[in-house]
This record gives sequence, C-alpha cells and structure tokens, in this order.
Amino acid sequence: MTALATVLDHIRSGRARSKPELQRATGLGRTIVVERVAQLLASGLVREGELGASTGGRAARELQINAEAGVLLVFYVNLKGVDVGITDLSGHLLHRQHAENDFASGPEPLVEWLIKTWDGQLSELGKTRTDVWGIGGGIPAHIDFASGTLIDSPSLPASWRGFPFRKHLSAPFGAPAWLDTDDNLLAVAELRTGNARDHENFIYVHADLALGCGIVTGGTLVRGAQGAAGNIGHIAAYGTDDALCRCGRRGCIEAVFGGEALVRKAVAAAESGESPALARQADIDLGAIGEAARLGDPFAIELSRAAGYNIGRILSATINVMNPALLIVGGRLLQTGTLFFAALREAILHHSLPFVTEGLTIQAVEHPQTAGLIGAANMVLDELFSPQELARWFAAGSPEITVPESVEVEHP
Ligand SMILES: [Zn+2]
Repeated sequence: MTALATVLDHIRSGRARSKPELQRATGLGRTIVVERVAQLLASGLVREGELGASTGGRAARELQINAEAGVLLVFYVNLKGVDVGITDLSGHLLHRQHAENDFASGPEPLVEWLIKTWDGQLSELGKTRTDVWGIGGGIPAHIDFASGTLIDSPSLPASWRGFPFRKHLSAPFGAPAWLDTDDNLLAVAELRTGNARDHENFIYVHADLALGCGIVTGGTLVRGAQGAAGNIGHIAAYGTDDALCRCGRRGCIEAVFGGEALVRKAVAAAESGESPALARQADIDLGAIGEAARLGDPFAIELSRAAGYNIGRILSATINVMNPALLIVGGRLLQTGTLFFAALREAILHHSLPFVTEGLTIQAVEHPQTAGLIGAANMVLDELFSPQELARWFAAGSPEITVPESVEVEHP
C-alpha cells in the first residue's frame, strides 16, 4: 500500500506523469510501477489524459487523477467569517460561498448551516451526498487532529471547547472528516499549490487580525502534541506594552502588533489628532493605515514599521530554531504598506544567525481569497491518499464510512 500511495502522490502532485517518470521520481522498480499504475487505472482513481511529449518512441498518455470520481466538502473559518465550498478530487473549487459567522452562539449553528449550505451546493452541481469522498475544514483553534475535536482557542468563546466536529460533519454524509487550525491550512495550500511547492522546510506566517504560522519540516506539517504548534502570536513582545491579549495574558505580540491592535491604535491616533491623515479616513482598517503611510503620515509609517520589525524579531527566534529554506508572509498586515515587510525582513536578517539566513528566502504573498478552502481540500486528499487510509478503502472503491445517522450534540 505504501508503493501505491507513493505512486498516487506523484501523479496527484504532477511530479511524475508517466511510468518512466514514476520510476525515476520514486526510485521504485519497473514491475512495481507497472502493477500499481494498472491498479490505479482499474480503480478509476487515475486515468490517462493528454498525449505527453514523445521522448523518441511512441508518446504515452499522461497519467492524472480522475478528479470527477468524487467531491470534497470544505470550509474555512477565521475572525472575518466563514468560507464554504465544494472541490473535485484535484482540489479545484467547484462552488464557494462566504458568510458572516456569529461566534458567540457556539459551534452547533455553524455545523447546521454548513450541512444545509453543502446540500444546496451539491444539488446545484447535480451531485448528491453519496458523491462526497471527504470533508475538511479549518478553525482558529487548537485541534486534536486524530479525533477532529476542538481542544481550545484563544479566539473563540468557551462554548466551542471540546466540540467533536468530525462526528457531526461525518455522520450526515457518510464520509471521513478532518479538521485543522486555520493557519495550518494556508501552509498546506502553499505546500501543494503555492510558492512552497518545491520546499520541504518552510514557515508560512499569517499576519492578519490575529498572528499565527504553519510550520512544515521534511514535507510534513508540524501540529505539536496538543495541536497548538505555530502559536507565534502569543510569544511575549519586546518592550513595555502590556496590552491584554485574547488568550488572557498580557503583552503577547498579537495583542501589541496584530491587525486588531493596529486598527485600535490607528483609531485612537485619528481621534486624538496625532494622525491627521487617519482622521480623514471614513473607515479605519489596515488598508487605511497603508493609505495614510503612503501619504507620508508619520504615525502610520511608524506603526507599520514597528509592527513589521517586532514581528520579524519574534520570527528570528523561530527561524534560528527551525532553519527553514523559505519564509512566506501573508495576511492583511501587508496592506499597512511596503515598510511593514521591509522592516520584518530587516529584523529577521539582523536577529537571526547569519548562516541560517544565508540560505533563507523571505517572500510576501497575496493569497487568493480561496486559499483556506484549497488548503482544506488538499489536507483531505493528503489523508485520503495516505497509505493508512488507502488500505482501509481502496478495495471498496470509495472512502465511504458508516456513522450513526443521529448524533447527540454533546455539551462539554
Ligand atoms: Zn496571547
């Protein structure tokens, strides 16, 4: 099953599109490759597509995932709301909606709404619940990945603690479900479809209203013992600002230089007259800080620079520990102006070990809005096509599971 999973992964990622390419890329023998490809073709999971480039002899048809064999249900929750959609088995989005979410009312209304919305989207696509191969989502919380249960979150009310998401999502569709921290899914999107495609060791930093990161080492996401790895936002900031953080402690970098903190400081500066440019803005958000900085407003310029430099200083410690080859910075803090990224980069180069930064590429990315959903789909595909999961369902032809239809909602 391991060889089958390896062959499938190479076809799925496009790293190999023919049997000779598979032999070269996987190091597997010719007989094994021929056998496993035949199994995958017979199962309908892989098909032969376009004619590939001829290398002298007769051109072979390119092997590719049969993306239409099933669909995946995906969602992505962050502090701005919830994205919900459906993808095919290549992770391509077929349907997507965005909605506000009322976090105070707890996880049950969200789950009910997700199920109702997916049913509507399935029917619009001419599909039914039996076409669903897997479900995946991201939440701003620490998740027990093995059980799909929310452990805790600095961002969500206590009513979310201990909620067994997997159980509630799997049951109606008879399909396996996986949950992860929102920022981890953005790292998976970078790994599978974005700038980190050729990297095994990288960090994706999401500098947004909150601050977090996804860490990939050896091509695998680091989740940590409690699903809480990547919590850079709650490292103590340097300096004397002891602003109260949503985690309950004081002086975390997110509470001092996260997006919400910057907007709060910008509003105060507009009201006090310290920033005339911000005072002229109708609606003060991170983009308004960037606009004021572009107009030369000293307060906005310093705010953006200080945020970049201090977040970069925190990151330099992480970079010294993890030694990544690539650091990707995304999220709306980039909207505060070019100085933010320049200062972040400067702090990293200044505070990290020289031989660690020598081989380090630092990039700013503007994510597509859909990155969270793309990451969720690829997380599901990584799990469905893992040796362990393939061993469970490959012979049956689809990953369908049986879960009791009615599930009692448990209150922790
Ligand atoms: Zn905190």
